[in-house]
This record gives sequence, structure tokens and C-alpha cells, in this order.
Amino acid sequence: MQPQKQTKFIFVTGGVISALGKGISAAAIGTLLELRGLKITFMKLDPYINVDPGTMSPFQHGEVYVTDDGAETDMDLGHYERFTSAKMGKHNNCTTGRIYYTVITKERQGEYLGATIQVIPHITDEIKATIHKATQGVDLAIIEVGGTVGDIESLPFLEAIRQLRSEVGRDDAVNIHVTLVPYIKTAGEVKTKPTQHSVAAMRQIGIQPDILLCRSEVEINDDLKRKIALFCNVPASCVFTARDAESIYLIPKMLHEEGLDHKLTELLNIWSREPDLSAWNTIEERLAHPGGEVTIAIVGKYVGLTDSYKSLNEALKHAGLGNDVNVKLEFVDSEKLEESGDAALFLAGVDGVLVPGGFGVRGTEGKIQAIQYARENRIPFLGICLGMQLAIVEFARHCCDLKQAESTEFDRNTPHPVVALMEEQKSVKTKGATMRLGAYPCVLAEGSKARAIYGVPKISERHRHRYEVNNDFRGALQAGGLALCGTSPDGKLVEMIEIPDHPWFLGCQFHPEYKSRPIAPHPLFSSFVKASHERALSKPSDKE
Ligand code: GLN
Repeated sequence: MQPQKQTKFIFVTGGVISALGKGISAAAIGTLLELRGLKITFMKLDPYINVDPGTMSPFQHGEVYVTDDGAETDMDLGHYERFTSAKMGKHNNCTTGRIYYTVITKERQGEYLGATIQVIPHITDEIKATIHKATQGVDLAIIEVGGTVGDIESLPFLEAIRQLRSEVGRDDAVNIHVTLVPYIKTAGEVKTKPTQHSVAAMRQIGIQPDILLCRSEVEINDDLKRKIALFCNVPASCVFTARDAESIYLIPKMLHEEGLDHKLTELLNIWSREPDLSAWNTIEERLAHPGGEVTIAIVGKYVGLTDSYKSLNEALKHAGLGNDVNVKLEFVDSEKLEESGDAALFLAGVDGVLVPGGFGVRGTEGKIQAIQYARENRIPFLGICLGMQLAIVEFARHCCDLKQAESTEFDRNTPHPVVALMEEQKSVKTKGATMRLGAYPCVLAEGSKARAIYGVPKISERHRHRYEVNNDFRGALQAGGLALCGTSPDGKLVEMIEIPDHPWFLGCQFHPEYKSRPIAPHPLFSSFVKASHERALSKPSDKE
């Protein structure tokens, strides 16, 4: 048997402040190294105590990203999958809570043979084992440590990567430290001191960064790079600027032009080809000169914080790139729409309406009004998960004479429970990971719009929900003119709906946004944006 090849590691840490875009930087580095021909994977280490982010509010933590294997993970895994072809799953995201949970479970089972369980070595050993398990069989693993250096919480993770680096050796691991080099307007200059302090904090815990990736509003010139290098104990050739970008999809190319991927292959002793960036060049070109514009309204609850719909926003942008149009997103607060009782006030000027996934009753009547408006005014409509469930409620109320139609999520005792819990879900009591999660197959009806859009009879898409279309009402919905165009292969679950007698009205019980990529836009979003653009073009222009 061949001995297994050593996986090489890039550890990405962050300094000075949070929200420096470490996740995007890691993803963009992955893009370049994958394009150089390496087989790569990623991991995100999160220093919070939640076992996974599934129970966290999207207001606090941004969207929960769902993988094919049904893991509820950090949003950064979405960036990794969008920027590369690496497949993420439950092993690619690990929290402090998960590590402690495993160690404490082992301790209760007597696996440590009477030892006193400590952060070092037991917690750090568990972290290292988790990293090794998630990164087998690839050439290179990019490991991002959440949080900022100096936080108490991230110390065990940093200690573990320090140990790992000395175990695997210099040629097989590098540390990239992402820092901020702020531009101070009043002084008219950039400041390197926060970076110096941050690197000092890293050195204090035994990690000397190999590469500094300096986030900055302005270009960092060679003199400044030399200064940073001197104070931070790295060669000047290892100081890179990551300038603010108009679009995250410009970052792979920007980092390549800085020479970052070349330097990484040099440090890691990897012989590889130059990356072919042609697909990213096309994206750059289309971003700079879009051939048109569409306005899509997203009618939802988490509109204040667009990170809670991260994958959705990105999927719409990808569809824009695919159609060569700029997609303008208008976030409509469903509660405000509900209060006003006048959907036209919010939606009269838009080219497409999207109601995304969500939980809880707040604003649902507003969403239903938006759906009715899109249906009656023949505006392209896409309903995702809760958005599809509410489209069914709306249709049942107004087209099937089921006036009190409701999801039992919002009214347990409704006489017309068109959306309800299936038997298996009724017995579930805990909250974490109790939903229908991850990839499920769906069969598309011959002759349906959904089937034409996907171009294949069977698809697989990711789910995250508890409620389902109630099969007792299928007959009534179909009699009213709704097509149940996608079902599970055994026919028991409704997965997609459409209104054949409408230019573009589709709903899906799954979340297609998780599988869209800038270089491979998702067919549902592409078709939705295309239909919206056609509507925009057919509208009389304001100037006439
Ligand atoms: N709240 C709904 C359910 O649990 C929809 C969930 C969602 O939109 N992700 O079924």
C-alpha cells in the first residue's frame, strides 16, 4: 500500500478587527490554488460554544449554510463552495462546542482511563484529530480560524494549529494573517501600528505569520510593505495588499496580480502551472459593463441584515452574470407591507418578486399579499421554502375557495391546513438539527416549466425545513390550477409547484441558492432573472 501523501496546510487567522473578509480571502486563495491544479478542501474553526450554528439567529450570525450531507454550518462554507469545486460537509465546520461535546462524551465513556482532562492536550488533540479527519486525501487544506487574535475563545484553536505546524514541518504549512491597515483621512496616510500589535499578539502565542494579507482602502506601496515587514519579522515579499473590491468576485484575480498564489506555492514547495483565470475575466468584464438591469424585490423578515440571505443574494448576482444584466435587489420588509395593506406601494416598479425561506409568523401576511400581487399582475415570482409554502396558502385562499388556508406553523387549528407537519416531525422535541436537512432527490413532471428549466428529469437540492405541503389538499390545489410539478421519487412529498397559466410563477420546498456559483449560475435563478429581464424590457420606458 502506498503511504498516504501529507496534506499541506494553509492556516488563515485574523487580526485587529473582525469582519475583515477572512472567509472570502480563504475562498479566493482556494480558487487560485485549485486553478493551479491542486485538489483542495477547506475547514472553518469557530470559537463559539454552540455545537453548530443551526440554532443561531440569522440576525446575529448571518445565514446558516446547509451542505449536501445536511450539516448546518457557518456562512463561510458557502463562500468556499461558491469559489471552488470543493464539496463541504459536516466535517468542514467545527465549533468549540462540538470539540468539548466530543471530549466530554469520551470522558463519560471512560475513554481517557482516569486522566485529568485538560485544554492542553485533550482539547487541542481533539482539534488536531478533527482537522486531520476532515483534510485527508487532498493536496492542500485551507483552515480558517474564526474570531480575532487576542480573543480568549480562539486560544485552543490557535494552540492546536501552532502544534500542527511544527508537527508537519515548514514545507507543509503556512500561516496567513489577515490584518487591517487603516487609512486615516485626517492624516492622509495609512497606519501600520494595529498590524504590528496583532502580529506581536500572534508571536506571543508562538505563531510567526509567514504571510500578511493587509486589508486596505488604498494601495500599500513598497516602502510601507518594507516597514510592515521589518516590524512584523516577515520578508517584504510576503506582505500583500487586499484592497477593498467592488465585488467579491474580483478578489481571486486581484490576489493573483499581487502574486499571492505564486508565493504560496513557493513557500509550500509546490510545483504547479499558472492558473487559468479566463472564467473570472469574463465575470470581471460583465460586472464592469452589464448589458441591462433588472430590479428584484426580496420580500422578507431579515431585511435589515442582508447577510442573513447571503447565498440568496449571491445566487441572484450569479444569475445576473449569466444573463449579462445587473440585478438590483430591493429588500422589502414584509411587516411594513403587511401594515400598509397595499402591495403595489412596494412592488409596482419591480421586475420580479422573490419570497425567501424563513421561520415564524411575523410578516407572513405581508408575504402572502406580495405573492398575490405577483400572481395577479403576472410578475415573475419565485418562492423558496417558506416562500413556496405561503404561495400555496395564497393560492388555496384565493383560487381554491379554502378561505382559511394556513400553515399549521402559524395556526395549529386552521380548518384548511394546506401546509402541515408530517407524522415523523410531530414527535420531535429538541431544536438542533431536527429538520429535513440536506440533499434530497426530486422528480420533475414531464412538460412542466421546472423540467424545461433544469433540462433533466431528476434533480437533487438541499433542504432545511419542518413543514410540508399537506397531501390531503393536493386535489383541491390542482383543481384550482396549480401544478405540483416536482415531487420526491416516491411521490409522497411535494417539492415544486408552478402556475402554468402565468408567465413565471414557481415555488420550491428546497433552497436552490446553496448550489449556485458565479461560474455556474443555478438554472432556477437564471431562468427567473431572464423572465424578470424580459418583463423589464417589455415595460414602457419612463422617458416615453
Ligand atoms: N418555517 C418553514 C418550515 O419549517 C420554512 C423553513 C424555511 O423556509 N427554511 O417548514
